[in-house]
Amino acid sequence: MMRRLGRAWRSSAWRLAALLAAALAVGLWLRAVPACLLAATAFALGHGVLRLARFARLLAGRRRMPAADGNGIWDEVQNATRQRQRTAVAGKRRMVRLLRAFRDAAAALPDAVVALDRELRIEWFNAATANLLGLKYPQDLGAHLPNLVRAPRFTEWLRREGEEPLLDLPSPLDEERRLNLLLIRYADDRSLLVVRDVSQLMRLEQVRRDFVANVSHELRTPLTVVHGYLDMIEPEQVPEYEPILHELRNQSRRMTQIVEDLLTLSRLEARNDLPQERISMRPLLEALRREAEALSQGQHTLVVELDDRHDLLGSTKELHSAFSNLVTNAVRYTPAGGRIMLRWQHDADGGARLSVTDTGQGIPAQHLPRLTERFYRVSTSRSRETGGTGLGLSIVKHVLQLHQARLEIRSEPGVGSTFACVFGGERLLEPLALAEAP
Ligand code: ADP
Repeated sequence: MMRRLGRAWRSSAWRLAALLAAALAVGLWLRAVPACLLAATAFALGHGVLRLARFARLLAGRRRMPAADGNGIWDEVQNATRQRQRTAVAGKRRMVRLLRAFRDAAAALPDAVVALDRELRIEWFNAATANLLGLKYPQDLGAHLPNLVRAPRFTEWLRREGEEPLLDLPSPLDEERRLNLLLIRYADDRSLLVVRDVSQLMRLEQVRRDFVANVSHELRTPLTVVHGYLDMIEPEQVPEYEPILHELRNQSRRMTQIVEDLLTLSRLEARNDLPQERISMRPLLEALRREAEALSQGQHTLVVELDDRHDLLGSTKELHSAFSNLVTNAVRYTPAGGRIMLRWQHDADGGARLSVTDTGQGIPAQHLPRLTERFYRVSTSRSRETGGTGLGLSIVKHVLQLHQARLEIRSEPGVGSTFACVFGGERLLEPLALAEAP
């Protein structure tokens, strides 16, 4: 291109030089050199201005620039512009094709996708959105999304800027359909709402839960019978079977405990909330200490510290059982001579935590993330020896979830572990004044 331009420039320069030379020759012949040179220059200038005006007209026009067939500098400028226009048009076409392909792909998604501006106004949505959220095309374009989907949980979630996915929201069109929602931020404070129909998944999950609950329930009666008969046999009556009897009793007790724990888990999973009771922490910690003492049989040092004066709001029964699980574990996984500390303390963010710290065997870091899974054990033998079911921490996690609290685990092998139940400030109650106390 540069070379062609150079050539065109030279040819134009030669043409101008030839015109001036001819004007000079004619001028010498007519003895009017200045007039002839002036006329030639005016002609060259006029010709240039005319070409420039034509070029400007072509550039401003809607039609595409035609090809120029000359070889002067203006022809080359026209051809170079024409070439650029063609490249730009091809690029634009490619972009439009790509944009259409993206739009068609998004429209074909089974998930609902809604593009929102920073004020949560709807800029675009795909076909699935009509089925899942009930938006109508085109009248809902530009509408404020919280005005169209009026579920309070949804509005509250949008207000918190959808920091975490919103799970299990009933569809505004049909209560039976359950939705999971995700809000993805992108350029310039815009966001993309992705809605997935998880009804099928929830149904499967329900089938799994019902199955576990039913199996546990069905096993309960035969186990009680076996257990009852085993208890009726006195070892002295059958001395030769005494070790077998002992083992049978142990195993049937273990199975009963597993069934009970599975039923507890099913019961917790089926609930969305629990009773909201005022729990006074001092008596609760004392009860936990007594349980630990009974289990430890004087083999551990037990310390209780009450550093926060607040009461806790929640289910006394479930929280007691969760805390008791942690204390029992601390005793079971701490060798004799160890120290176990129960502590109710204030958190900097306005909440409070109940922590159980032991100087036991500790847990290697790679096990920590999986510890609350059902039947996950670090050491199966120690768990079985001490009557563990592998379900204790799973129950703790569920109970805490129902209190919007979380379980924090810190542990170092050979040093000890701390299991802390962390509650938000909304779960804390000012202690009743003495006069008000019942
Ligand atoms: P288990 O009935 O086996 O104790 P849990 O769900 O209560 O089941 O605990 C899961 C696993 O976590 C246990 O098997 C044990 O390996 C580990 N664990 C729990 N608490 C402690 C603790 N205080 N110290 C060391 N390991 C622990």
